[in-house]
Amino acid sequence: MRILCLSNAAGKLLQSLQFSFAAVTLAELEAKLASDTEPAIVVGELFQIDNRLADLLERGSGGRVPVGIVPYHPQHEDSFARLLAPSAGVPEVASTVGLYSSRGLDFDYREPSVPFAGTIVKLRRRSEAEGTITSRDDAALQISRHDFTSLAVVTEGRQSYCLVGMGCLHPTISAPELGRLSPRDVRARHWLLQSCHSPFMWPELGSYLTLPLSIALTSRAETVICSTHVQTYIPNLLNLYLDLTSDGMPMGDIVRALNNHAATEGVDYRPFMLLGNPESRALVADRATPRKSAGSSPDPKAKEVSQLLRRFVANVGFVSNAANFGFQKNNEPHSQFRRDMAWLARADIRSLSRAGRSESDIEGLIDGIRPPNERISLKQATLRLSEAWEEAGGFYAVGEQLDEMYGPEGAQQLDTCCQVCGERLIERRLSYLGQNISVEYSERRQVICPRCLVVEHVSPMHRQATNVVAVRSGQEFVTRVSYTNITSQPQWVYSFAFLSDPNNVSRSTAERAYKRLLERTVCRRAQQAPRSIGPGGKFDFEFRTGPVPEDFWYLLLEVNLMVDFCWNWFSFTFREKRIEDWLRSERYSSTLPRIKAGILST
Ligand SMILES: [Zn+2]
Repeated sequence: MRILCLSNAAGKLLQSLQFSFAAVTLAELEAKLASDTEPAIVVGELFQIDNRLADLLERGSGGRVPVGIVPYHPQHEDSFARLLAPSAGVPEVASTVGLYSSRGLDFDYREPSVPFAGTIVKLRRRSEAEGTITSRDDAALQISRHDFTSLAVVTEGRQSYCLVGMGCLHPTISAPELGRLSPRDVRARHWLLQSCHSPFMWPELGSYLTLPLSIALTSRAETVICSTHVQTYIPNLLNLYLDLTSDGMPMGDIVRALNNHAATEGVDYRPFMLLGNPESRALVADRATPRKSAGSSPDPKAKEVSQLLRRFVANVGFVSNAANFGFQKNNEPHSQFRRDMAWLARADIRSLSRAGRSESDIEGLIDGIRPPNERISLKQATLRLSEAWEEAGGFYAVGEQLDEMYGPEGAQQLDTCCQVCGERLIERRLSYLGQNISVEYSERRQVICPRCLVVEHVSPMHRQATNVVAVRSGQEFVTRVSYTNITSQPQWVYSFAFLSDPNNVSRSTAERAYKRLLERTVCRRAQQAPRSIGPGGKFDFEFRTGPVPEDFWYLLLEVNLMVDFCWNWFSFTFREKRIEDWLRSERYSSTLPRIKAGILST
């Protein structure tokens, strides 16, 4: 271990404690560090320890040499030897680790895959109400009741303190009964403190990093890893610190690993420094296999999950926006769907992707991150959507509205023919006119049959993975939709079908006649419960109308396939040569738009 000393006063103390060291100036420090790969302790006075020093150490060590800083202050000479000495570490089984996150540990901490053999104390905030009596179980009181081997805290800083539960951690003020803690009130040998504590002005303990310096100098801490500039939230920090300390890794390597982690996550530049000896250990490794250190290498899975979620949230947002499909304000199922899923749009995708890091099932992923006060499951919310479509009156109410959001990209005649009437089909391609759209909704493909009108309104990427069959047998119509997940990620698939436009009566012009006619069909609707299908998985849906009433000459079968909330629509027309009978019947006149009695009489 090299000791590089920036202070004459500290040099004298080092001499009296019989340490060998090299006296250096700030200007020489970078080159000195770079000249050797041996771990180093840099000794400095409080005013010399700040973010600029941390940058200088980073450059000098090239991110390879383990470095710790030992602060010197004449009033705290007793802590000097403690911080210089390498701590040996205790066995995991004999250790007590405290964890705290101001975002909550449910959010910020995952149970390790290899169970931790020691004691983990989860420190939690127990009340949100300011000014109420602090609960005995609140972190501010809980934290003083343990002897921690290590204590990892992710929190927020104010001008003169860091928040801990309902209390605050000051550099010197101590009134534990009021929830005001100083480092003296907390017994922890090794600290990790991630917070905005850098700008504290507390001259008796330096004018920068006052709180971490106070922890190092006034508590019994042996090492302190602290953030050195304004806080950026770094995911997975608590787990990584726990994994690395329990692997018996020396603190100088841990602080480097934490800095690498922040960099690979793309969230911060060298946020941490170590106060203390870089060869100190919190724990000794007593397991044959090291823990999988989740944050030590980039996790491509997390990125994939975050892309999946972003797409999913965009699609839910698209469906939730009543304007996109022209849903009316009084469409209660749609309003309910929006209320049930509103939380998703407010969620922070970064945190979602972390929470769902290992999920391969959409339902597990979304329901796993759903706030506890949101009671409606993804499945329940999804099922409501079919009602919203049906309530609106089917494609000719919602599809035409959707078309207004898209501009034409071209049209062509296809080689394929309509399954129902055999006419050659025409394809129109559309692209979304607005901004910020998910890839699924960015393009639409409309297929038109000259006789049956629009027969498909789909996302091209879903259409190429869908097989659709319609079979007529006597008075019954059967349609089958088979969708295969050809992507590399799980998908949330749902299908529902319903009958509409009996004898070409539209819901919007004659609602009662529409309903009365439809009531005479055997099977008006069907759905296949939504579920998550993995890559290569298949989703099959069948809709059988049952015998169609004999006096029906027209009926529309609308089949809807939702893939990650992107809507795909197929239709099949049931047609019979019975229109003359219909036109002569009394029921026909009741389906015509009503003319007011007063107009007729004049
Ligand atoms: Zn046709």
